[in-house]
Amino acid sequence: MESVRGGAPVDKAVDFANYFCTYSYLYHQKDMLSDRVRMDAYHSAVFKNKRHFQGKTVLDVGTGSGILAIWSAQAGAKKVYAVEATNMARHARSLASANGVSHIVEVIEGSIEDVSIPEKVDVIISEWMGYFLVRESMFDSVIYARDRWLKPSGLMYPSHARMWFAPIKTKLVEQKNQEYQKSLADWSYFSQELNEAYGVDMSTLTMPYHEEQKKYYLQTSLWSNLYPGQVIGDPVVVKEIDCSNATLQDIAAVKSRFSFTLSGSDRLCGFAGWFDVHFRGNASNPADKEVELTTSPSDTDTTHWGQQVFLLQPPLVIEDGDVVQGSIEITRSKDNHRLMDVKITHELRSSGEQFYPATVCNFFIE
Ligand code: SAH
Repeated sequence: MESVRGGAPVDKAVDFANYFCTYSYLYHQKDMLSDRVRMDAYHSAVFKNKRHFQGKTVLDVGTGSGILAIWSAQAGAKKVYAVEATNMARHARSLASANGVSHIVEVIEGSIEDVSIPEKVDVIISEWMGYFLVRESMFDSVIYARDRWLKPSGLMYPSHARMWFAPIKTKLVEQKNQEYQKSLADWSYFSQELNEAYGVDMSTLTMPYHEEQKKYYLQTSLWSNLYPGQVIGDPVVVKEIDCSNATLQDIAAVKSRFSFTLSGSDRLCGFAGWFDVHFRGNASNPADKEVELTTSPSDTDTTHWGQQVFLLQPPLVIEDGDVVQGSIEITRSKDNHRLMDVKITHELRSSGEQFYPATVCNFFIE
């Protein structure tokens, strides 16, 4: 069955096979449950704002193992609808039962877009964030749930989200370039040997192979846990989302300009993107205690999201005080609405001899 998400048609069966399947494994849920920064933030958000949950109805969009639904019940919710697309729903059901809240937590197996909830709810809680916030496009489902099942005065947990972007230095730039060069050399040996052994000239496929490898090694964003010292300019917010009223249009594409003053005479190796979310309640019912979950570079508080790194090949030589400015544009991949195409345009204004004109780099968040 097809639906349209962010302008691209979605085949539900293909989406289930590609996207949802990993979430049906406990090892994957365990990765998320082991992320202390994530867990502490959601735990604090719920238990330091119990007032928002006591005697209320809650909808957990994508309950996974059921953790957020169970916390909501422990914090005093009257009823929690815990919706999960995969058969992880069965584990969530038994976990709720084993923790004595099965009379409160009702686990419903199915996509939030397909299931029916018996009533409108006071709170929607969800952990929907992907790499650089938007990968996976799961916020679409939260928007759907909000517009269909949240009371007009209802609360969103989290209530706000931001995407951050910053210039960085990293040795990944050499590492990836070496891997790329090695793959090209491999092809060269392989094609010569094949020709000698089997008498077929492979050279027409050399360029397509190079393109394919370039996309893989140089243009696909990389997961990284950066140290704060690798960030060489003040990070900027490229997108801000108010979860209470953001629309599909608001999130389907991100476009922003940036200007960074670079620190240190070193190299600009690329850019990094990450996100934070906040639990603030809403204007008429603010949180008693605001909580932040950040995935920014940190020496101590790392997350399973890390940061997404976009490498510049080659890196640019910079001097302290140089300015790099340009724009970032993130759109959904035409082939898969849960993956992203990223276009970064940048130019360097240098006080020294170096000057680089505007350059466009295309990346993929896979
Ligand atoms: N809430 C859990 C799991 C978060 S991961 C936790 O915080 O640990 C996101 C979960 O949402 C996955 O288990 C995924 O299968 C589920 N999910 C994603 N989109 C969904 C949708 N449209 N309907 C129902 N479940 C969905």
